[in-house]
Amino acid sequence: MSETTIHLALVDDWEVGGSGAGDPHDLQFRPMRQLVEIYNKYGIRASFNAEVMQQLTFRDFQTQHPHLKSLADEWDASIQETFRQGHDIQLHTHPQWSSSEFREGKWDLKGDWSIVNYSFDNARQILSRGKEYLENLLRPVDSNYRCISYRAGSWCIAPSSFMLSLLADLGIVFDISIIGKLKYDTRRIKLDYSNCEEDFVPFYPIMTDARRVSNKVERIVCIPTNHFYGSRRLTLKHHVSKVGSRLSRSGTNGKASGGYGSDWADTKHGSSLRRVYEKGVVPYIKGKHLISDLAQLDYPLMREMLSSIRRRARATGLANIPVVLGIHTKDIREFDDIERFVSDISTALDIKCVTLTEIARELQKGTFAIKSKS
Ligand SMILES: [Zn+2]
Repeated sequence: MSETTIHLALVDDWEVGGSGAGDPHDLQFRPMRQLVEIYNKYGIRASFNAEVMQQLTFRDFQTQHPHLKSLADEWDASIQETFRQGHDIQLHTHPQWSSSEFREGKWDLKGDWSIVNYSFDNARQILSRGKEYLENLLRPVDSNYRCISYRAGSWCIAPSSFMLSLLADLGIVFDISIIGKLKYDTRRIKLDYSNCEEDFVPFYPIMTDARRVSNKVERIVCIPTNHFYGSRRLTLKHHVSKVGSRLSRSGTNGKASGGYGSDWADTKHGSSLRRVYEKGVVPYIKGKHLISDLAQLDYPLMREMLSSIRRRARATGLANIPVVLGIHTKDIREFDDIERFVSDISTALDIKCVTLTEIARELQKGTFAIKSKS
């Protein structure tokens, strides 16, 4: 049997906290430089999904608040410099920024967190403004730059009567918002991907519901962001150490803690300990379902993730398969674990590290099989 080549994309969602909290120096600019240094050291090229609504909002308020202008300028410079070094920049949007106030140095974001709850016109405006901002920023560096990939804020893409058509109209080649078996039911986010028809290989989605596979060729492709099942031993061990360090850290600095789960929950109720337990330990014991997000995993879990990817890739029998991982720069605690992982994949014979733009190119060349129901 011939080997499967895994075209692996490391895709960072680059942003401050979901409520607008956190200093972009700590959550974005500095960790991005550190991450890019690691990528460069091992000769791999990765992708950053720039969350553009934050940036557009900083620009909207920069006249009244000059320090927001200098932060927005540094945001631009970070993106351009990372792109200049060969890494990819693609589109990510958190619509809660669409209605915001800035008072006493703090953001109050009033918009709905899920883009599928907006009107067609509002969603179109969010996406086209974001795409235009990135293209205007990066075309002076490379005139061929195009926005070709999208990941929705908080993964909210389906079901929606218009999202996939809008993305296709804007020239987006593929979406990476689907994560198999993911389910949220919080005050801010409700999504149910527990019965996705495909959660590993690229597929043509039903245009009104990316959870389902179409029976024909469509104008856009979905590539799920990877998930896996960690062993009970490692997930629990990892989680206990995370809870420990989080509790000892809470209140001591401004770093957004807890990753996306606690970011989205209603933080007004319940002690932080109980919240951490409910959001964290319970699902691990029950299902051990993990998003393949390098900022949330330690090295032993990254190894388990890679074994799972290899197992599933080989089972397809395909010669080439794209796999998309996540990272959230704002949540990274252990650069050493990420560096060990990057070192491993940079020398693995069955893995080719690629950018999102490279995946789009290969999709269009026909390198990857795209699943449909026929
Ligand atoms: Zn995000």
